[in-house]
Amino acid sequence: MGNKIIVAGLGHGGIVTAAILAKHGYDVTVYEKKSEGTLGHDWTDIFAPKSLNYAGIPMPESDKYELKEDMVFYSPSLGVRLKQHIPDNEKEIKMERKDIYAHLISYAADCGVRIVYDCAVLGPVMLGNRVAGIKTEKGDFYADLVIDSCGIDSPVRKNLPACVPVDKDVSATDRIYVYRAFYNKASDEPTDDKFKLILFFNNKKGINWVASEDEYTDVLIGRFEPFGMDEVEKTLTELRKTNPRLGTEVVRGGQFVQIPIRQPLSVMVWDGYAVIGDAACMTVPLIGSGMANCFKAGKILAEAIMDDINDEFDRYTLWKYQVNYYKEVGGGLAPIAAAKNLLVGLEPKVIDAFFESGAITEDDINISAEFGDIGDMLKFDTNDLITKVKAVAADKELTKKALKCGAQIGAVGTLCMTMPKSYSRDAVASWAKKYNNIFK
Ligand SMILES: Cc1cc2nc3c(=O)[nH]c(=O)nc-3n(C[C@H](O)[C@H](O)[C@H](O)COP(=O)(O)OP(=O)(O)OC[C@H]3O[C@@H](n4cnc5c(N)ncnc54)[C@H](O)[C@@H]3O)c2cc1C
Repeated sequence: MGNKIIVAGLGHGGIVTAAILAKHGYDVTVYEKKSEGTLGHDWTDIFAPKSLNYAGIPMPESDKYELKEDMVFYSPSLGVRLKQHIPDNEKEIKMERKDIYAHLISYAADCGVRIVYDCAVLGPVMLGNRVAGIKTEKGDFYADLVIDSCGIDSPVRKNLPACVPVDKDVSATDRIYVYRAFYNKASDEPTDDKFKLILFFNNKKGINWVASEDEYTDVLIGRFEPFGMDEVEKTLTELRKTNPRLGTEVVRGGQFVQIPIRQPLSVMVWDGYAVIGDAACMTVPLIGSGMANCFKAGKILAEAIMDDINDEFDRYTLWKYQVNYYKEVGGGLAPIAAAKNLLVGLEPKVIDAFFESGAITEDDINISAEFGDIGDMLKFDTNDLITKVKAVAADKELTKKALKCGAQIGAVGTLCMTMPKSYSRDAVASWAKKYNNIFK
């Protein structure tokens, strides 16, 4: 085999892998459907800066980011508020998404990555059972390896043939539906908490944030089911009652988007194929953050590819990527997916009771940016959470759910540790079946 690599989609994980590989002499081309200079959304993102360091990507210029404010978590009725206290050296950074992209693209270009813009990928090209390239609206392109970095609805992953045991679809219930926009400042009234995160606000299952900046208010409305502009307007009206600075004019953003909030894919590699980022469901299931995990996965994938000294790029050599990814990141995300499933099933009044009983403390919500281990990054002990749900749960049904969730968390944690160390068809199929069954 040669060392020609195609990255389908300019996702955050794919571009990191592309840069590392190109720096080491691989022939790497990225195919991206958007036009040059238009990547990313018109808003800011939060991520752990240590993840860039982990991947060997230089830090952006210091005037391009700032430290993230500590968040204040609110119960659905707004009756209880709990403030994070993250030490400065563990804080995440906040940066414009366009600047994050510009930084990564400039670094990748310096490493020798070629990017073809305005080129929508339509699916994989198969040669026998092997992925041998991509179909695009500009024709077919062949490579020794295709890295799928096309996001949640990747057409490469979706159109893989049945013989490839990679999950093709991300179900409707495995997504969070999000509307995000920046609104004008309606008043100079001082704000009580600068960055509020409200759970199940207005009796709707989901997460809202309201971040008051000097000149605008950043609003995110996230729901576990699709919603439209009517619902956005109703939510904004309710939010304005306690956030007088929140105006009515959209100054930036204003889009509906979707984020995967499920366990990472059970199989992420095949002959000639590896999947990364939102296409592989690498976000933290409760909160939908994915960038830090992408950067880390990008480095892990590049290392597995470079360790394949004969450039086989098949399921046997690429399996190392999956094993190391689960060891470093995925094995921490999968149990959180089980806890998320419990949360989605709870009624807002139960969450309120939970907050009001004192079962959740400020220590529980100290989600920090420490990146060595996902357990550090999300300082939220899921087993402890289950114990607390049981303590405040008056009804038997909820206790049953909590017990089931506790069992799932234990099972998935153990299963991730016992993933086959090397690829064999039967062992991987049996492992993947058990893993997927836990979440059914
Ligand atoms: C509102 C919102 C807020 C978020 N906030 C944060 C945050 O603060 N912190 C954080 O860590 N994460 C955040 N996330 C999640 C984060 O954006 C993702 O997890 C992360 O970007 C990884 O996704 P990705 O790069 O793999 O996929 P994507 O961002 O979806 O990128 C995929 C790329 O592939 C391209 N593409 C798609 N289809 C095709 C095709 N057919 N042909 C060619 N190219 C294609 C797209 O144009 C895009 O460039 C947020 C997400 C949303 C929606």
